[in-house]
Amino acid sequence: MVSEEMYALGTKKSTIRTIFEYGQKRAGEVGAENVFDFSLGNPNVPAPDFIRAAAVDILLHSDPMEVHGYTIAPGKPQVREILAADLKKRFGMEITGNNLFLTAGAAASVTITLKALAEPGDRFVVIAPFFPEYRVFVEACGGQLDVVPAKTDDFQIDLAALEEQLTPQTKAVIVNAPNNPSGAVYSVETLMQLAALLHAKEHAYGHPIFIIADEPYREIVYDGITVPCIPLLYENTIICYSYSKSFSLPGERIGYILVPDSVADFARVYGAVAGAARVLTHVNAPSLWQLVAARCAGRAADLSTYARNAALLYDGLLAAGFSCVRPQGAFYLFPQALEPDDEAFCERARMHDLLLVPGTDFGCPGYFRAAYCVRTEMIVRALPHFQKLAEEYRGTT
Ligand code: PLP
Repeated sequence: MVSEEMYALGTKKSTIRTIFEYGQKRAGEVGAENVFDFSLGNPNVPAPDFIRAAAVDILLHSDPMEVHGYTIAPGKPQVREILAADLKKRFGMEITGNNLFLTAGAAASVTITLKALAEPGDRFVVIAPFFPEYRVFVEACGGQLDVVPAKTDDFQIDLAALEEQLTPQTKAVIVNAPNNPSGAVYSVETLMQLAALLHAKEHAYGHPIFIIADEPYREIVYDGITVPCIPLLYENTIICYSYSKSFSLPGERIGYILVPDSVADFARVYGAVAGAARVLTHVNAPSLWQLVAARCAGRAADLSTYARNAALLYDGLLAAGFSCVRPQGAFYLFPQALEPDDEAFCERARMHDLLLVPGTDFGCPGYFRAAYCVRTEMIVRALPHFQKLAEEYRGTT
């Protein structure tokens, strides 16, 4: 009567969602201040005032037909021109509005891109640890997901392991940096080696292999690090961007797909993106937020809270005896669990009201994710609980 596949997807909750709901229930029992929920990647920095002021001003003073009417499928041409000019200024990419397709956030951008590229039998590579929804997105477009573990000493791409997974059926490699959940930003050296490897394979297989660069955390970086602009290093790159994290607007659903002219057969790829957006009914991204994005192009939110939280949690966990690669961006730590079974570890942490997500969920067993887009004072209060948990494992309590 219904699609079993869709029913399963719609009714089986993700581990992250299940942990979050447990946290809400537990808060009702022991008080919210006694539950340390590090499960969700929901920005806790409020959307900046300049965004809210722009939205209010547009709502109050712009032509309602302009604000609330249908836009053309890829988004308002003048908005795309402004965003393209800003990207050109920031990254030196030679693009215009015709290279952009506005979307309802990064999930929509990635889904549309996959649907646009996927032909029967195609395979898509992800680097583990990876955002768990990639599996859903890839399988929904009929693709096959291939998982390549990252180097766990720095979570950079393991190019030898990647090479082993590449086949003539490989259509694209999904690259997410700053990474959810490891916090890694792929270095220029890593990306240049990746580009050289993909060029060699393109040559050997006789067809393009795309990089799908999923970059919703592009502006959330620490210690002066910048995220390399991948299309400048590898021409067959499609960028999937979102304002959900950088402007703290996850509920508004706004982002874009950037298909540079350098992409092989640009017109056909952009045309397929438009077709996929049509099939998935992802045309006409929210019109008000298109206008807000254009009005605020080039502005930056104050994201220093994340850097403070990262340092506090990272130093606190290290002092408690955890090992962890220092995050370079995004708002997650991905430390090693204190026993090989990361799910058992997270269960045990839950006994201390520490809500953490097992690394298995991200294709990387033996680790856990702690999202630090939370109130700083919660981290301060949680640290003694991490300490106790670690002592318990050492058998010192
Ligand atoms: N990609 C990654 C790596 C994410 O972490 C997320 C959200 O957490 C998304 C995509 C989805 O972002 P959006 O809310 O813009 O759809």
